[in-house]
Amino acid sequence: MAGLSVAFTLDCYRNIEDNYNSLKSIREDNPWRRGAIVISWLNDLYKLQKREPQKEIEPSLINAIFRMYDRFPRIGLRERTGQQDMSLDIADAYLNGRNAMIEAGVGIGKSFGYLIPSLLINQVSRQPIIIATSSIQLSEQIHKDLRVIGSRLGFTTVRSVVGKGMGQYACRHRAAGLFEPDDPSSPLSTLAQRILNFEIDERADIKGGISDAEWSNVCVNDCIFERCHYKNACLFYDMRTKINARACDIDFIIVNQDLLIRDLIKKKEGTRGIITEQPALIVIDEAHNLEAKVRDAGTLEFTLRRTCRILDDALQILFKQSRDKSLFSQSKFLKSCVERIFKQIDADLLHAAKQDNDRIKVSEIKGIPFSRASRDLRDLSLSLSVLTSRHEREIDEVFEAMNGLIRLFDVLAGVEDNYLIWASNTQREATISICPKAISQFLKYTLFNGKTPVILTSATMCQGGETLEEQYAYLTKSLGYTGDYMDRQSSPFDYSSHAMMYISGNIPYYRHDKRELYLEAAYTEMIKLCNLTQGRTLVLFSAKEDMKYVHKRLISGADEYKWALHVQKEGASQDGVIAEFRGSKGVLLSTGVFWEGVNIEGSDLSQVIIFRLPFPVPADPIYEYKAAQAKNPLKEVFVPDMLLRLRQGTGRLIRSETDLGVLSILDSRLSTAARKDYRDKVLETLPFKKVTEDFSVLERFVKEKGIQRTV
Ligand code: SF4
Repeated sequence: MAGLSVAFTLDCYRNIEDNYNSLKSIREDNPWRRGAIVISWLNDLYKLQKREPQKEIEPSLINAIFRMYDRFPRIGLRERTGQQDMSLDIADAYLNGRNAMIEAGVGIGKSFGYLIPSLLINQVSRQPIIIATSSIQLSEQIHKDLRVIGSRLGFTTVRSVVGKGMGQYACRHRAAGLFEPDDPSSPLSTLAQRILNFEIDERADIKGGISDAEWSNVCVNDCIFERCHYKNACLFYDMRTKINARACDIDFIIVNQDLLIRDLIKKKEGTRGIITEQPALIVIDEAHNLEAKVRDAGTLEFTLRRTCRILDDALQILFKQSRDKSLFSQSKFLKSCVERIFKQIDADLLHAAKQDNDRIKVSEIKGIPFSRASRDLRDLSLSLSVLTSRHEREIDEVFEAMNGLIRLFDVLAGVEDNYLIWASNTQREATISICPKAISQFLKYTLFNGKTPVILTSATMCQGGETLEEQYAYLTKSLGYTGDYMDRQSSPFDYSSHAMMYISGNIPYYRHDKRELYLEAAYTEMIKLCNLTQGRTLVLFSAKEDMKYVHKRLISGADEYKWALHVQKEGASQDGVIAEFRGSKGVLLSTGVFWEGVNIEGSDLSQVIIFRLPFPVPADPIYEYKAAQAKNPLKEVFVPDMLLRLRQGTGRLIRSETDLGVLSILDSRLSTAARKDYRDKVLETLPFKKVTEDFSVLERFVKEKGIQRTV
């Protein structure tokens, strides 16, 4: 329960324990008796913590939670103490109108832990619950879990919707413009035709996947909403209508964090929000990703094409209203400024970007009359603002885009200092990005503002530390969080006897100028380790370039191993490659989302190899900024960030009570000989109790536990 780490007096503790034990011993068919004891137990806790509940504890909600769990054995589900505690913590936060952070370790059943109180809160309040998570796969998994737990517990009329980002949906309006009757069999025409034939509604409908570049031609980018005659058969339009329904018309809105943040940004800026107002509760799952998601959502990207389109759209709307011909010369002048800016960005990228997605500094842009350009942009924005009162979505969108453009010009002119700016080749197009420097103020104002209780949860939120406050400190600071810290619900899995962590001390440190030396040594060690478990290994890379190198070497050195090799491919479905990996029991090379989104129970996955510790790149403008704010950047930024990611990656290994496995780290900075301060932090934070740098000890463990496959 909340705040159990507060020092107790022994007598009080015994009281609570007695109550808790009698609670457990009461037969499951007597929920009301259990409920009375729970309330007495909670009240004892509050007295102990000298924390008075802000509202009377609602016996009905707490009782109802226990009644739900009482039914678990009958509906074929296992009772887990951590899960029940999590549910009670959430009910407590809701009843007291407080925010709560709850770390819920792998295996406690986190999603049911928050879905059960959420179902009840929705029923009591008749207001929707918003659940935001960090990927589409997880949103869909939560939706499935909601259906399962809802139907088993008798919530059969729950109305729910999953909202994904616009880039996931196909746009028929765009597809219609792309179909070429003269060349109907070209790849683009074929794709457009399939969309127009209703074979494809969203990206996931394309079996075998599609590259980002191809998909970017047909996905939703600037929806024209009511003006579109495809709207009644459009999945995107339908989703946007449901997530913005009246509070009484929807029960659960499951979205990715990007969408939630975009909604908060819109509401803060005074434009129409995307998600319905007045939810009863907001649950943010995978909350360790929230900072990055807020930054991504707050980042405005401009390509030459997009910028010219914003100006064209504004011109079209305003001219239709005013018939003012001077708008044309204004627009022409602004376009010439934009073309000049992108000419320089192209030159910068050619000179400094080494690979796709490299973020480079933007050099000073000369020869542009910024004050005149800024004045003209503001004039156009002002004229649009008068029209936004009509509440037409299209005008709102152009108004918002125009304000973004004003911000870009201000940053380039040096009059706006609250943004980071960089250039990159995103999707092979020169792109300028601007991102707010500090995000904590934004979250304080829009999310942690006391209007709706917010629950932040994840399996990896904490670092080492004496108090809960210290353990949750990195995320608290990054997010500007204010609220309660709940006890960490640790994983019920037996890491001490089921797993071993191996740290390789033989590999030279990574240095950019000796990259190949490092990669060759790591490659040799990786082969040895994969042969030890006879495949069944997930190799996690922090750098795509490392993965490409190793993949190439494995192809040329195929006589060194007998297992099947799989590699994550751009645009291919994650589920597809995981299914192939499971089928062959081979080795899967991966990066990015695979650090988080892989759940393979059983012996198909017996080893996870961390190729290099996942430290953030120091030259990344965001981390450069965060480091500049810290007294000790390594301790306050780079190590905590690396630890969150490392915990996610290593969490792929043990996924059930019977799983056995090996975690291997091919980064000798973590070896005893390296004497790095963060070694202790890593060992304290990871759940692995058996740690070795001796390969023969690892071999013995693998043999004893029967991890080696008998062929
Ligand atoms: S409603 Fe919007 S997303 Fe759907 S087809 Fe029309 S323009 Fe595209």
